[in-house]
Amino acid sequence: MAYGLLIDGVLVAGAATIDVINPATGEVLAAAPRASTEQAEQSIAAAGRAFPAWSKLSFAERGAVLERLAEALRPRVDEFARLLTREQGKPLDQAKYEVLGAIAALDYYAAQELLPKVLRESAKERIVEQRYPLGVVAAIAPWNFPLLLMVLKVAPALITGNVVIAKPAPTTPLTTLLFGAVAADILPPGVLQTLVDQNDLGGLLSQHPGIAHVSFTGSTPTGKKVLGSAADTLKRFTLELGGNDAAIILDDADLTKVAPSIFRGATANAGQICLAVKRVYAPRAMIDDLCAALGKLASEAVVGNGLEQGTSIGPVQNKAQFEKLLGFIAEARSEGTIVAGGEPLPGPGYFIAPTIVRDLPDDARLVREEQFGPVLPVLAYDDLDDAIARANDSDYGLGGTVWTGDVERGIAVASRIESGTVWVNKHLDLPFDVPFGGAKQSGIGRQQGIEGMEDFTQARIVNAALS
Ligand code: NAD
Repeated sequence: MAYGLLIDGVLVAGAATIDVINPATGEVLAAAPRASTEQAEQSIAAAGRAFPAWSKLSFAERGAVLERLAEALRPRVDEFARLLTREQGKPLDQAKYEVLGAIAALDYYAAQELLPKVLRESAKERIVEQRYPLGVVAAIAPWNFPLLLMVLKVAPALITGNVVIAKPAPTTPLTTLLFGAVAADILPPGVLQTLVDQNDLGGLLSQHPGIAHVSFTGSTPTGKKVLGSAADTLKRFTLELGGNDAAIILDDADLTKVAPSIFRGATANAGQICLAVKRVYAPRAMIDDLCAALGKLASEAVVGNGLEQGTSIGPVQNKAQFEKLLGFIAEARSEGTIVAGGEPLPGPGYFIAPTIVRDLPDDARLVREEQFGPVLPVLAYDDLDDAIARANDSDYGLGGTVWTGDVERGIAVASRIESGTVWVNKHLDLPFDVPFGGAKQSGIGRQQGIEGMEDFTQARIVNAALS
């Protein structure tokens, strides 16, 4: 199938093409159109033309359009899921879950409305906070959840009256392009557009005066560049960035329950989740049993092509990430003890056996940096206060988990973790109505919840004298 960029309501070829690699085979899966600077300018201009009419519609009218988009996707779940597995690598059941999540997000936002807030009302005065849309939103997404993360920007931006230019990561553009092709028949020209680049248009979008808001999800170093290029126009932005989330196991936890949850939380999507478990702190007395349990789960995992039935862990999404992980493993091997895995799998794809490492010092790279792959360090603690301090000793502050037999004790520990979300005895529960975002260098702003929708709007206080 030939993929097109959606610009001004029309699917068009790019100025060039990008080879999209299937990470399970290392082979070219498709040629994606690559947009030129001129095409980026055309799409910004088309978005500017589309904004007045779209923003004047009511929430209910825009919601009806989003609902039609969800309806158009529903019969195509399997098609989207297979394409997602082939471009991103995740097992087909996880891909299907992502596609269903994207449709559920469209359904959810289709029914939302931001109502004016009455801040003060008396015989003398009425003060109301209204919200109005910002204009053209650049939605810039990473390669780990290409479809879901993009729709989690597109849907709230559109329902609040903005128009969107969707820019996927260069290694996973296909599901966004297919989404654009479906939207082409439903949304007015210019309301949603798709631009594929080779990591060269993000800067243009984030500094362009025609863009009002950049909704960015990606790494912390790139997020800092967005922050810099948005400065000149004082552009609004939301930055959802990297994490190095700690899982803290308390001494009353039941390891038979906790170990599988931690393993899943560290290896789902081959560990390429911003909120994955990226380091584990456990009481010293539990370390041997925990490592044995995690090692057993690692050896039982089925690593392979996500299209094959029974695969539990797919390949790492791209070669650069694969090589970065091999570097992490090589350093971890020299400083610590590999309990399981520690090797790439033979074959042309980017497969890494799930890897558990113990006995690392706190300043090891695998402990301090974001690995973003199925490689997990397990660290011992003697004192809970010390474990909390070590968990907080990070530039990141995205998520975290606490595992315990006593939920109140868990909540007390969670309340001392410096990050945007902390789960107790569960993980990766992200309801659409609950705001989510990073502390410290894990981000600025919120997605989801009312706050997430408000991030796509400007507050306007109308302050009227009544007498
Ligand atoms: P990345 O920062 O390399 O790329 C993200 C996006 O930014 C891509 O679309 C890329 O083309 C674009 N980009 C590149 N240069 C740019 C520039 N100068 N200006 C604007 N955009 C530019 O990230 P990645 O490697 O694709 O994704 C992995 C990272 O994303 C990890 O750090 C992960 O933790 C993070 N992430 C965060 C969240 C969250 O919600 N906090 C969710 C998923 C992933």
